[in-house]
Parts: sequence; C-alpha cells; structure tokens
Amino acid sequence: MENFEQFLAKWPRERRARIAESATEEQVLAALCKDTLQPEDFLVLLSPAAAPHLEDLAQRAHELTLRYFGRAVNLFTPLYISDVCTNQCRYCGFNAKNTQPRRHLNMDEIEAEARVIADMGLQHILLLTGDARKLSSPEYIADAARRIKPMFASVGVEVYSLTEDEYRLLIDAGVDSMTMFQETYNPELYDWLHPAGPKKDYSFRLNAPERAARAGMRSLGVGALLGLDEFIQDAFCTGLHAWWLMRHYPGVDVGVSIPRICSHEGSFDIPHAVGDRQFVQYITAMRCFLPRSGITCSSRESAFMRDHLIPLGVTRVSAGVSTAVGGRATEADNSGQFDITDHRSVEEMTAALAGIGYQAVIKDWEDPTSTHA
Ligand code: SF4
Repeated sequence: MENFEQFLAKWPRERRARIAESATEEQVLAALCKDTLQPEDFLVLLSPAAAPHLEDLAQRAHELTLRYFGRAVNLFTPLYISDVCTNQCRYCGFNAKNTQPRRHLNMDEIEAEARVIADMGLQHILLLTGDARKLSSPEYIADAARRIKPMFASVGVEVYSLTEDEYRLLIDAGVDSMTMFQETYNPELYDWLHPAGPKKDYSFRLNAPERAARAGMRSLGVGALLGLDEFIQDAFCTGLHAWWLMRHYPGVDVGVSIPRICSHEGSFDIPHAVGDRQFVQYITAMRCFLPRSGITCSSRESAFMRDHLIPLGVTRVSAGVSTAVGGRATEADNSGQFDITDHRSVEEMTAALAGIGYQAVIKDWEDPTSTHA
C-alpha cells in the first residue's frame, strides 16, 4: 500500500497552486452545497475565490459542527515533562542552541505535576517532551504514561517521531492518542527550518501517524504550524493528511490541530503570517471538508478568538495551560516553549463555554481496561 508521502507526491505544489488560483465563485458556491467534499473542493474553499464568502463558509461550518458535535467542547491540558532537545528548529524556544535552563522531570515529579492537573478536574492529558532520545527515551515516556494513567481517563502524547514498535510500547503503557505536527509539508522549507538533529528526517516524521495507526493507536492528530509556508499549501496538506489517514485507517479517530506560529525567545521572522480572516477560512473550510473530525485549538490563540472559533468548528481546547516543564507542583525557572495568549483556568474556560451556550466535556472516552476511578 502506498504511504501518505507517496500519495502527497500526486499533489505537487504546482498542482495545488493551479487549482487554488483558478478557482471561481461558482466552484466555491457549488462546494458549499456538497455533502461530501473531495480534496479539489477543499482547495477551492481555501482559495482566494472563497475569501469573500467567509460568511457562507461560517454558516455551513456552524451547521456541520452542530450536527456532528452538538454544543460540546472537550477540555485537555498539556504536561511538559522535559524540555531537553537536540533539535535546532528555527522557530522554537526549546531549540538546542538556546541557552535557557532546562528541566527533565523524574517520575515522582511527573506524578506530582499530574496530580495538580487531575485536581483541576481534567481527565484528558497530553504528555510532551523535547527530542532527546537518550534522555527522554521511549521507555521514559512509557514509564511516565504508566505512572499517571491511574489519574486520567485518557493519556495522549506529543513527542518526537517513533517507530511502530515504540508506539506499541506507549500503547501498552496506557497511551491512547498521539499528535504529530509536521510543521510544514514543504520538504525544502522543512530542511531549512531544521538544520540539525533527528527531526531533520522529513519522511520519518511525515509517516509517523501512519506507524502509530498500524501499532493500534486509538486517536491521531495532525497539523502544520501555520505561518511557515504559504497559507494555502500547508492548510491544504494538513487536511489532505487527515483525510488520507481516515480513508486508510477507518477505525482510528483522526483530528486536526491548527496552531499559528507565535513569538518565542530569540528571533524568527514569520515568513507567511496568517491573519485572522485567513485563519477563519482555514477552520471553516476544514470543517466542511472533514465534518466529523475533531479540531483542536490551543492556548496560543486568544480567549476572544477561541470563543468565536468554537461555533465554527473547534471541538477541543486546552485549559489551565503551562508550556514550561514543571511549575505546577515543583519550582520552574525555565521558560515555556511558546507564549500562550489564553491563560484561562479550567473553571474560567468552563464558565466561558457555558456563556456562549456550550458545555465543557471533561471526559468523552475512557480506556476500558483502566483502573482509574
Ligand atoms: S519544536 Fe520540538 S523538536 Fe523542535 S526545538 Fe522545539 S521542542 Fe525541540
């Protein structure tokens, strides 16, 4: 079976640009009336021709979101367990070249941090590490998952790319979901953005969600870091990636994350900053293309923006977020991976959702073998 990288090769950059540039108003309106969109339709909805129809896109996205998700929004929070990293991603505050103090939590510290999160009332947690295979090995991540699993209904990971066997190791330890940000689907740009370190291997990262699916992961998330490449290119490839995974692994839950690049320690000029209108076009087009897929919006976005995106398609948000390692139960003198804009606690987020007519969902799934009460 061809993998996603081989499939993506059938959608070269020039083809994507040609379809987007030649899209017409008639094609946009036709796409908005279809029950099932093909990748070409998604490109049309992302195109400049669709930009004047943002209100129509928003209405369609709102209808679909209500139909498939109701007025329910899942809450989760990330737990950063190590910011030691051997990569040099030009856009990241954890970049190995940055001389900030680093922390690598031991199992007792991880449990203490997790307990604070559990006491906030959250049931879905996401473990994150930098990419340092020797120190933060797959076994370390598995041990962390095993240690905190009794406190949570669901443990996800957002870590460096693993082999199929390593994903299996995590699943055996209680991990049920993984998110992998490709950052950009432009291989040349990817190569420049990642000058050194294991992450430089574009293909190994691109095919990681598929390896996780083969290993038996229940839920997958993909996403590009918007702002690195031209909007339409990475927006389209993100949707295409999720669409392809759903078609090939129909038993797996596949969602999309929508981070926009923001500032961090050091200097990085955002090459293709995505404005708010374009961002809304992205989310509404994604909802039309993938009506049943969860869309996750992190605390990078402001409270105002997140509250307004929920009716348009966002189904999962973080709350009570810290992007620093430690700091909840233990002292932290290190800075976070990136600046967060929405600092709302779980209670504040729950109240804000109620204020716009939505219910915060703390637990929408629980491992059937879990001993968690
Ligand atoms: S994006 Fe991830 S891999 Fe890259 S420097 Fe930051 S923590 Fe390391």
